[in-house]
Amino acid sequence: MDVTVPAPAAVVRDFVNSFEPQTDEESWGTPAALQQWLADHEYSVGPDGLDALCLQRAKDLREGLRSLLMQHAGHEASHAAVERMQSVLASLAPMTSLGLGGTVLVSAGDTTFDLVVLRLLEAVRRCETAGIWDRLKACERSSCLWAYYDTSRNRSRRWCSMEGCGNVLKMQRRAARTSTGTARH
Ligand SMILES: [Zn+2]
Repeated sequence: MDVTVPAPAAVVRDFVNSFEPQTDEESWGTPAALQQWLADHEYSVGPDGLDALCLQRAKDLREGLRSLLMQHAGHEASHAAVERMQSVLASLAPMTSLGLGGTVLVSAGDTTFDLVVLRLLEAVRRCETAGIWDRLKACERSSCLWAYYDTSRNRSRRWCSMEGCGNVLKMQRRAARTSTGTARH
């Protein structure tokens, strides 16, 4: 376990990193694969199976979250992805929050998918409460898009790694500027 990353941030990070563009590795190839992944990641998976629609909604949720994390890193977010995530959330059974020694999120539904969403929203809420939501970011490089936790003091990290993606993108931008003749300094 990565001790530098608080647990709720790790929940969201791992959810987003279930797809790795760099290796084109999709952990959720089928509804059964998604169900297995959830079980492996300590989500309370009910006996009900997940269908193709659940799989699509889970992916929409993941890519919407990734867009939010891109924005945290100062990159352009996909509004379309965020909208798809919003419509997944809007389609869910109503959720209520109860107070008394801490807020509890309660879902009217208790399907596996409801529980997944509930757990994610709870993790996001805990990140926000702890003031660390904006430390959770996603890399800008289109072949990477890796979600990471920025532990830097001033929360300024823009890429998963400065040596890897950060350098590649900087070189690409330099090359683009040079080729259009607008290079200065
Ligand atoms: Zn990267």
